[in-house]
Amino acid sequence: MKIGVLALQGAFIEHIKILESLGVEAVEVRLPEQLAELDGLIIPGGESTTIGKLARRFGLMAPLHEFATAKPVWGTCAGMIFLAKEVSSGTEGKDQPLLGVMDIVVARNAFGRQVDSFETNLDVAVFANGDKRPFPAVFIRAPKLVAAKADTQIIAMLPDGTAVAAQQGHWLVTSFHPELTGDGRFHEYFLSLIEEEGK
Ligand code: GLN
Repeated sequence: MKIGVLALQGAFIEHIKILESLGVEAVEVRLPEQLAELDGLIIPGGESTTIGKLARRFGLMAPLHEFATAKPVWGTCAGMIFLAKEVSSGTEGKDQPLLGVMDIVVARNAFGRQVDSFETNLDVAVFANGDKRPFPAVFIRAPKLVAAKADTQIIAMLPDGTAVAAQQGHWLVTSFHPELTGDGRFHEYFLSLIEEEGK
């Protein structure tokens, strides 16, 4: 199995490290032709406008769209915004290239200035073997998932009911950064989606 991490900007090295610690081959992706050899792709956190503009400049928008139609893709934080069909928040969404595959609406930087960053434990229903141990989640100027449409499932929420992780078929999104705490269970879950697809 070979997983790519889009490496235009943001926290891609941390994803590579955690994938390698799980014994999976992981590569930094910058060129359209690299997509051909991958079984799945992670779009990391960072700055979604920058990631989108660089993807457009490097001719990656159409190849990424084609890849996402065929294979599993997981967007964390900025990556979640990039996968969304709609960004709800005012001027920030303007001139922001979106891959626009998932039936979700997101609001950027929606947790407010006072809580730019925070860490909390989440209950996640989908981990292997019904593992119920809380998952440590780091939020950094995170987006909120304000609507999940069509067949999108919410798979993790904050105690106040805010949706922070969702799945639609082979697409996964998390508002937070699961690559920063050393807990590999979300990455394992993504790998299980890829295995499922290969069957
Ligand atoms: N605030 C960033 C954005 O809107 C996302 C932050 C992150 O990825 N940690 O794109």
